[in-house]
Amino acid sequence: GFAILNGKIIDRSEAKVDIEDRGYQFGDGVYEVIRVYNGKMFTAVEHLERFVKSSNSIGISLPYKTAELSGLLEKLIDKNNLQLGIIYMQLTRGVAPRNHAFPTERITPTLTAYTKEFARPDESMKTGVKTILTEDIRWLRCDIKSLNLLGNSLAKQKAAEAGCFEAIQHRDENVTEGSSSNIYIVKNGVVITHESNNLILKGITKDVILDLCLANNIPVEERTFTLEELASADEVFLSSTTSEVMPIVGIGDKKVTEGQPGPVTKKLQKLFQQEIEKQCNK
Ligand code: PMP
Repeated sequence: GFAILNGKIIDRSEAKVDIEDRGYQFGDGVYEVIRVYNGKMFTAVEHLERFVKSSNSIGISLPYKTAELSGLLEKLIDKNNLQLGIIYMQLTRGVAPRNHAFPTERITPTLTAYTKEFARPDESMKTGVKTILTEDIRWLRCDIKSLNLLGNSLAKQKAAEAGCFEAIQHRDENVTEGSSSNIYIVKNGVVITHESNNLILKGITKDVILDLCLANNIPVEERTFTLEELASADEVFLSSTTSEVMPIVGIGDKKVTEGQPGPVTKKLQKLFQQEIEKQCNK
């Protein structure tokens, strides 16, 4: 297959980065994952805007216009003949002799991207997934989609070892987000999810879901909620680019909604499906 390295589409096997790339040494960079359905990117503009926002917030400026980048990604999808999958894209500060402080000389950021076939999680979306709870040990800028994913990775590993799909993180009594997803509860018909501040990533899928709620008269509260509210919720679900609207039917050894996806979750899955068809029809 093909990959993008610094604005050029080249053979995947030739895409190589220097051992002193700051992304490799410090996690000094940002990334995005974009869903592709029917060979078309879903919410591409939103992902590209977040990519620019994340990189600007750590002082890296994207050396391409977003329209240019979008065109390049479309070309990559074409060349790789991708129908259903994802694009992974990352930007690091670039290559410089190792020093914690940024290089004083101007360096070129390293941009890489590749595609991967990735099916929709149809079965899990029907049955729901199990989760565990874990303390959120990450830093205080979780709003930046940075390459520093060690906290997220450790949380996900804990879930994997417990045979679970996701780890729900909490800071003391407050639920923040999953290791790679946003978390929602439904109580008395109201969808509740953490406000988009420095403690969570503002999910693109979250934005789509909240818009769908608004358009379909499903009440929403964007606010911090507690472990107690999580435990007594009518329904719990998560969202992400790859998992879409995913019902949560277990937290630790406790069942949620009697181990079945709940009605509001199912309604949102249906609306999300329509949104995909709207944006990515053949
Ligand atoms: N939070 C975290 C920590 C994530 O890694 C992700 C997945 N990128 C999300 C939330 C969901 O974001 P999105 O809907 O944009 O994929």
